[in-house]
Amino acid sequence: MKVLKFGGSSLADAHQFAKVKSIVDADDSRRVVIVSAPGKRFRDDHKITDLLYLCAAHIKYGVSCADIFAMIRERYEEIIHECSLKLDLSTEFDELWEKMQGGISKDELASRGEYFSAKLMAEFLGYEFLDAALWVKFKFDGSIDQDASYEALRRAADGRKVVIPGFYGVMPDGHIKTFSRGGSDITGALAAAALDADVYENWTDVSGILMADPRIVDSPAPIERVTYNELRELSYIGAQVLHEGTIFPVREKNIPLNIRNTNAPDHPGTMILENIDDELEEGSFITGIAGKKGFSVITVAKTGMSSEPGTILKILEILAKHEVNVEYIPSGIDIVSLVVSSEKVSKRLYEILGELQKEVQPNKISVTEHIAIVAAVGRKMAYRVGVSGKIFAKLGENGVNIRMITQGPEELNIIVGVEEKDFEQAIRVLYNSFVREHVC
Ligand code: ADP
Ligand code: ASP
Ligand code: MG
Repeated sequence: MKVLKFGGSSLADAHQFAKVKSIVDADDSRRVVIVSAPGKRFRDDHKITDLLYLCAAHIKYGVSCADIFAMIRERYEEIIHECSLKLDLSTEFDELWEKMQGGISKDELASRGEYFSAKLMAEFLGYEFLDAALWVKFKFDGSIDQDASYEALRRAADGRKVVIPGFYGVMPDGHIKTFSRGGSDITGALAAAALDADVYENWTDVSGILMADPRIVDSPAPIERVTYNELRELSYIGAQVLHEGTIFPVREKNIPLNIRNTNAPDHPGTMILENIDDELEEGSFITGIAGKKGFSVITVAKTGMSSEPGTILKILEILAKHEVNVEYIPSGIDIVSLVVSSEKVSKRLYEILGELQKEVQPNKISVTEHIAIVAAVGRKMAYRVGVSGKIFAKLGENGVNIRMITQGPEELNIIVGVEEKDFEQAIRVLYNSFVREHVC
């Protein structure tokens, strides 16, 4: 049994709906389908979810959103008409509009994008509609009540062919709550885990996870196979193909996750697995390259720090008190750097520096802003000698100034900090040197 999730671009219009139907119809084991809200049809188009959030903002400030609501309604009506569906959503839309006048929650309003999308898709596929509100159960702390959710889905789905709206569930008091943006991926992962699916197919608009961001590198190659650990590294550092909450539920049940392209259904996409037999694999030692901007590096130097237990702890406690989590900690003797998100640290920077000065009494504290992190991720890096050296050399030869270096203990990643202005260049140099030209 396969669980499938289709993202917004796969549901943008009737033409995309038709592609989804032919994918589902091609394989009888594709029995559980999770859908996002319709996404963009063309570059400057709007996602339904964005329009719904826009309505919520208008409501909050007491401005009419009648025009935006009409646009949303039209998008669904057009699909209904073009797919020749019998479904009539007028009563539900009228009721929603009424509710919006009386103060609907932002989450409930945003969730309607997936709700209507699933209603349409259910009729189009000839599957039953199964509301996520019946089984995706949140706890009051915002985490998922896995046991209760899995149990409820097993009972509700029970061998049926169903379409489920992604992105939302219910709080213990019955109120609708959404995941963060892109959260339909999580609904799909939970459904796959609950139903012990053989595979979780995540259908999007790219033929799998690409070795680098396609907006930076021209036509990067898709990754054929990747481990959950590598994907976690890649998505944490910026390769945002999947919501990062997707991995845990499927990994726990050892369910392979297959990223596929709705617009190229014959392409095998990327298979994400627990283990990959490296013996069989040829090719580059780098699985993927990713990165993001927006970091600051706080460097603290103090003579004798290395032999003084507890100094680093003090530094981390001060940051924790100000709710700044530390991403990386490159260190030397008597000197430690803390890589933190600029956005998080900027509001409290002077307070933090003041406290560091007082508590740690360092010889020097400095802050470097506008740092970008670039990571080369790959499970095979551990077995190659001199990988880091080659990476640093290539960046240097191409004029990228490295501001910081750190490497995970398991050598799954090599991370360099560069100035934000060099970010795109650093990614391109790594891709061209180690993937296109196969330097190693
Ligand atoms: P969906 O709407 O199907 O959930 P998303 O927009 O959330 O799709 O994710 C797919 C997008 O992620 C791609 O269109 C691509 O622009 C972007 N992306 C960023 N980095 C990568 C990468 N390394 N590999 C593949 N896609 C990437
Ligand atoms: N529609 C929601 C969003 O745009 C959820 C999703 O697409 O996964 O974030
Ligand atoms: Mg997505």
